[in-house]
Amino acid sequence: MHITALAGGVGGARFLRGLLGHLRRRPELSGARLSVIGNTGDDITLHGLRICPDLDTLLYTLGGGVHEAQGWGRAEETHAVAAELARLGAMPQWFTLGDKDVATHIYRSQLLAQGMPLSAVVERLAVRWGLPERGVTLLPMTDTPVETHVVVPGGDDEAAGAQERAIHFQEWWVRHQASLPARRFVVAGLDRAVPAPGVLEALRSADVVLLPPSNPVVSIGIILGVPGLRDALRGARAPVVGVSPLVAGRPVRGHADVCLSSIGVDVTSSAVAGLYSDFLDGWLVDEDDPMAATSTLRVVHRPLLLSSPPASADLAGAALDLALDLRAGRVTA
Ligand code: GDP
Ligand code: CA
Repeated sequence: MHITALAGGVGGARFLRGLLGHLRRRPELSGARLSVIGNTGDDITLHGLRICPDLDTLLYTLGGGVHEAQGWGRAEETHAVAAELARLGAMPQWFTLGDKDVATHIYRSQLLAQGMPLSAVVERLAVRWGLPERGVTLLPMTDTPVETHVVVPGGDDEAAGAQERAIHFQEWWVRHQASLPARRFVVAGLDRAVPAPGVLEALRSADVVLLPPSNPVVSIGIILGVPGLRDALRGARAPVVGVSPLVAGRPVRGHADVCLSSIGVDVTSSAVAGLYSDFLDGWLVDEDDPMAATSTLRVVHRPLLLSSPPASADLAGAALDLALDLRAGRVTA
């Protein structure tokens, strides 16, 4: 069986680690392969290094090296390089760079500078993290450099004619904690981006497509914006099942509520499902979520917290079961 998933960082990685845990519990699915299409809109160049936060979170989490409490970065990390950069006055200083993490960025930057496409770099990093032997193929959504920017107001001086400006997504998210009003998201390079090798094929050949509870705007939304990708998903023979990122009407972590409001979408599971309505077949929402099924969408209520690896395995198992059920219905229909 071939499962394909779209993923951002922490929410995507925790869910997919749960999926691998669930597959280990099901011997009949022991040969299952997992293809993960990761968001690269968060990518940024800092201190001359190319940094891919979401891909690295996926590598570290699925590879067993993530900082568990934080959800991103490396376990048992030190910060000597960042401290020395700060002493030098190197800017910016708002982005956390662990020493082990820096090694990943140096290696990636070196290979990219030699002309290697990002997808090939990720393939090497995936070997370091043992992903192939776990049946996992990690694919960046595109090899084309793409960067999400956020258009924010010109500040107090706007009345006096100060222009609104676009800042990098990381600056908005990490430095400002999404506190600056986001007028819109602009993804530099996305209109010219080409799906990375293997991406469309992973969607076309999938038996099941899963959407983890990743941020619907700045993770999944960016992946869906890669030209051709959404069409491939719409045309896929596999059922598509997603998990809501909202529990009790709020994102479990991060600022997905702010992102949704910025694009004029209600902060509800049904409004998030609406963003995927052209291809979504099944949707997992929290136990107490008021959302009900529609004529085209199966809705299943489950505890949605990825609070531990076993809880994540249960949730991923419920998503997979719904997808397999929809698939069986399709095959017999
Ligand atoms: P990021 O790139 O690190 O922000 O991670 P993702 O985009 O993959 O995931 C972020 C989203 O995951 C947020 O919108 C959260 O609401 C959601 N999320 C995080 N933890 C959980 C959880 O335990 N359960 C559910 N359902 N969603 C979660
Ligand atoms: Ca992210």
